[in-house]
Amino acid sequence: MSDILIKGADLVGKGRSDVLISGGRVAETGSITAASLKGTGAEVVDADGLVLLPGLVDLHTHLREPGREDAETVRSGTRAAAKGGYTAVCAMANSYPVADTAGVVEQVAALGRAAGYADVQPIGAVSVGLGGERLAEIGAMAHSAAAVSMFSDDGHCVSDARLMRRALEYVKTFDGLIAQHAEEPRLTEGAQMNEGTVSAELGLPGWPSVAEESIIARDVLLAEYTGARIHFCHISTRRSVDIIREAKARGVAVTAEVCPHHLLLTDEAARSYDPVFKVNPPLRREADVLALRAALAEGVVDAVATDHAPHAPQDKDCEWAAARPGMLGLETALSISVLALGGPEDVDWDVVAERTSRTPARIARLEGHGHDPIAGAPANFTLVDPARSWTVVPAELASLSRNTPYAGMELPVTIQATFLRGRATVLEGKLVEETTV
Ligand SMILES: [Zn+2]
Repeated sequence: MSDILIKGADLVGKGRSDVLISGGRVAETGSITAASLKGTGAEVVDADGLVLLPGLVDLHTHLREPGREDAETVRSGTRAAAKGGYTAVCAMANSYPVADTAGVVEQVAALGRAAGYADVQPIGAVSVGLGGERLAEIGAMAHSAAAVSMFSDDGHCVSDARLMRRALEYVKTFDGLIAQHAEEPRLTEGAQMNEGTVSAELGLPGWPSVAEESIIARDVLLAEYTGARIHFCHISTRRSVDIIREAKARGVAVTAEVCPHHLLLTDEAARSYDPVFKVNPPLRREADVLALRAALAEGVVDAVATDHAPHAPQDKDCEWAAARPGMLGLETALSISVLALGGPEDVDWDVVAERTSRTPARIARLEGHGHDPIAGAPANFTLVDPARSWTVVPAELASLSRNTPYAGMELPVTIQATFLRGRATVLEGKLVEETTV
């Protein structure tokens, strides 16, 4: 692997510098002339006008393998991740079979290493088969080669309070984390979209905000009682923000993520009856979008997570009620995060780095990720062109699936390059086809 000299990048919005990468780490920053490297064979990447960010880290990715390789594979999903500027993704447990044993999590991690586009950190299931009744082999997954530290039944809520308490007490013994999909199931039976005026007008059964908020309130108290860490997946309502803000002020070890689609789209989109807008939790009201944006800027919401949920055409291109919930996210997340945080001209890149890389890396305990370009740091970076917008063309996405809600939209900022431990996975905006060293 040859050395790489990144010339003239704006380092996390704090000023121009060159960055020399050698042996997968940052060797030097400052003013480094290409001439002074003559003979070392360093590849020069011109980054004039580009912003260098720590490689993005996704806390919430559905890679669909094993089991639904028609919708996504670990390889195709991590290629989509690299194109979106990610160097690490946390793979949700709702595969077939469910990632509830050491064998499955080790398989997913190995597939990630073989593909070579992004580090894949498997998330283990909380309960056997996501059934919500018996604890999965949490200890075995934690001590496996995949070293799982985060557990989630995502897609399903751990609604049984006793099971949640046990899970929290268990993961606390090794500083693990439960990531809760907050949805009180009795309040969302048959739900198709956000409960409100739009659902009433369309005659679709509603998913009330309080189904999310009541579980968040309960689990904040359980985390406080047990002293364990808890993380809330894809929070979507204003009151959820209020509860988390209050819990943090009391010192509860709580973190939360928000998805790009909840920062941009509202339940008005359901009027089209286009199932591409069906997602769980559902798109909410404008007031929720604005509250989530403010909470992200403030840091009450710790991280942006994609909930990248690829679906094959037979599961998505059907009538609204029959369609699976979920949308693609990896290749559009940075653009929408920048939009939500003020737009490409006014955005604070340090806040972008904090919410999309440093904090999620800390939450997931991914020690090699979320580092700024200082000497000795692992070279996991992405180069962003803040001045170049792009139009989302589903057929051009690296994901195997096409269910993006942003088709035809012009989005700000493009990913020009992504480096995983000093190796380019994306260059000049295109995937590098041979990733194996
Ligand atoms: Zn979920």
